[in-house]
Amino acid sequence: MNKALFLDRDGVINVEKDYLYKIEDFEFIDGIFELCKYYERLGFIIVVVTNQSGIARGFYSEDEFEILTSWMKDKFLQQGILISKVYHCPHHPKISGACSCRKPNPGMLLDASKDLNIDLSKSIIIGDKERDIEAGLAAGLNCTYLFDESKSITLSKANKIISKLKDIYDVNSK
Ligand SMILES: [Mg+2]
Ligand SMILES: [Zn+2]
Repeated sequence: MNKALFLDRDGVINVEKDYLYKIEDFEFIDGIFELCKYYERLGFIIVVVTNQSGIARGFYSEDEFEILTSWMKDKFLQQGILISKVYHCPHHPKISGACSCRKPNPGMLLDASKDLNIDLSKSIIIGDKERDIEAGLAAGLNCTYLFDESKSITLSKANKIISKLKDIYDVNSK
């Protein structure tokens, strides 16, 4: 079975900008490539799980999301990093009704587990919102990190709150 590094997208891979869908607005967060390389070396596969309610809200289309996604995957590949799969929830409860994929629900992680033969108990999630952590816990993950660059979050169910991606794996990081 595989172990996975699950990454939220907005606020973990790229700087959070509301309802981002344009390539020119996509700004990689410092340390994301190094983090992925580190976990790939440890044998983790990389899977993205992202809420994209901008699709339900009509701010951008599935096609526009897919164009950005393939561009992003290419940028990782250029760094030698394979993103195994990108899962997205296009829904919003008030517009498209309840769904099982929108985090904090664990649907995307459970789907990934089936599709990619992932042992969830040995997997990791990194998110910038508590709902990412809750989705991870609901899926049975034992390792959850809340990434909070602003250092404003003090309470979380995550194993650890970090303000730099480096803090996850570099004991010397300050
Ligand atoms: Mg996020
Ligand atoms: Zn959904």
